[in-house]
Amino acid sequence: MKRIVVNRYKCAYCGACVSVCKFDANELVETYLEIYPDKCTLCMVCVKTCPMGALEVVE
Ligand code: SF4
Ligand code: SF4
Repeated sequence: MKRIVVNRYKCAYCGACVSVCKFDANELVETYLEIYPDKCTLCMVCVKTCPMGALEVVE
């Protein structure tokens, strides 16, 4: 099943991807970005928004 994953080495925890997600499918939790696959629609908005290229879709 496809899902969004975050590369922890690239992520700057800026929160931009959280701001643009209309489905509350991601959240900054302490020092990492949590992505909730059950809410994520794979709209790709966060992937395109991330300035660090830290998000990608995997099978
Ligand atoms: S792909 Fe869309 S729904 Fe999923 S976390 Fe990113 S912005 Fe939210
Ligand atoms: S937009 Fe990119 S760098 Fe910013 S919190 Fe999201 S994944 Fe991390």
